[in-house]
Amino acid sequence: MFDFTMSEEQIKLRDEAREFTKWVPREMILAMDAEEIQFPREYLTECGKRNLLGIRIPKEYGGRGLGWVEDTLVAEEIGVASYSLACIWGVGADIVCEAIVKYGSEELKQSIVVPLLKGETFAAECLTEPRGGSDFFGATTKARRDGSDWIISGQKRFIVGAEGADWFMVYAVTDPGAPPHKRMTCFMVPRTKGVESKYIYGLMGVRGGGAGRLLLDEVRVPERYALNGVNNGFEVFMTNMIPERLGTAAMTIGSVRPALEIATSYTSRRKAFGQPIMNFQAVGFKVADCAMTMDAMRSMAYTTALAIDSGKADAGRIRRMVSQTKKFITEGAWQVANNCMQVMGGIGYTNVFPIERILRDIRLSMIWVGTNEIMQQIIQTEWYKEHARNMKTNATRDVEPDAVSAHETDEKVYE
Ligand SMILES: Cc1cc2nc3c(=O)[nH]c(=O)nc-3n(C[C@H](O)[C@H](O)[C@H](O)COP(=O)(O)OP(=O)(O)OC[C@H]3O[C@@H](n4cnc5c(N)ncnc54)[C@H](O)[C@@H]3O)c2cc1C
Repeated sequence: MFDFTMSEEQIKLRDEAREFTKWVPREMILAMDAEEIQFPREYLTECGKRNLLGIRIPKEYGGRGLGWVEDTLVAEEIGVASYSLACIWGVGADIVCEAIVKYGSEELKQSIVVPLLKGETFAAECLTEPRGGSDFFGATTKARRDGSDWIISGQKRFIVGAEGADWFMVYAVTDPGAPPHKRMTCFMVPRTKGVESKYIYGLMGVRGGGAGRLLLDEVRVPERYALNGVNNGFEVFMTNMIPERLGTAAMTIGSVRPALEIATSYTSRRKAFGQPIMNFQAVGFKVADCAMTMDAMRSMAYTTALAIDSGKADAGRIRRMVSQTKKFITEGAWQVANNCMQVMGGIGYTNVFPIERILRDIRLSMIWVGTNEIMQQIIQTEWYKEHARNMKTNATRDVEPDAVSAHETDEKVYE
């Protein structure tokens, strides 16, 4: 985030996050990438001790009670040490806790949010299924009523922190005959009888964060564990799309930032043909493009965070801005990582420098929390709606007639 936009309190918060990121042991990062660690619980414990979990969650439940701008600036710093760590930082405290605070009972807030923000427990978010992630409404995990309980059966996959989670936020079909938006319920499921997680994926990156499969075999949960009540899971899903996507965008900025720092230092020192390679435009211009892209990414994250905090942008506009931010930043970060690897030559492709890990890690960002194709779909839908509304209000000059042959209406053929 830009220091010149920050208040003193925000700078202090950023520096706290920076100090925490410096604390992360190098051995933890390497062991996670080698999958010798499958879930780094001590990371969450330390984070909880420093009160850096739940930046937007009310103080009464252990959060900081701040806004999206603060969350975004902390997420960027959290992303610096490792993308995998940032994922588990965001999933439990930002995504699941927000849903419980908004839609859960006081009992769930006390029993899940409070210990989670202390770093004592972890909760995973479980939407994706083997038969499809983009098609949320195509979920086949089902729950049937049994007295005042629900019995859940099905499977979820690619769940960050499945290995290590104490609670699972699970979407299940509770009324298969209802229209898609009224068919699903979002249950908080404890690790209990019938719940099994399997750490089975050979991931390209983002390793060691417990991403696994979740098997639910006749799992009994009381109805009061349903967030927002039965058949109202869609609202929870829609709420969570903001922290999922804006959070991903912000932490991706942080994760790619070291690649640019390393590439800048390297190209200043590495010599070829008798001079530092930064002097060759082919190298220096790539680094310049990276610096420009990083600032454009930050501008977008910051503006979207401000838009949400302002409370002045409507839900459709926020949906578009968040989706744009996720797509733009994750693609920008990929270009930055790729350019940084390129200007390092062969050594950039080795594990002598961490750029190859950063590149492997952040590739996920274009796929998860809704693929970038799904982001395009949302942007398209919301933009056309917004455009239609804007045309009706006549708020700005209509430029269409400002063409020499604008009166040739016979030439304006639409069908
Ligand atoms: C490491 C990792 C961690 C993850 N963590 C979690 C987690 O914690 N919780 C969770 O619930 N999920 C998680 N996911 C799942 C992730 O969000 C999904 O993989 C993603 O949403 C895509 O779903 P899919 O894999 O089923 O692909 P599909 O939905 O099968 O999509 C395949 C391709 O088709 C395209 N496509 C599909 N539908 C459309 C459409 N309508 N228009 C245009 N293109 C379309 C997609 O863009 C994609 O390119 C994780 C995934 C990974 C790899």
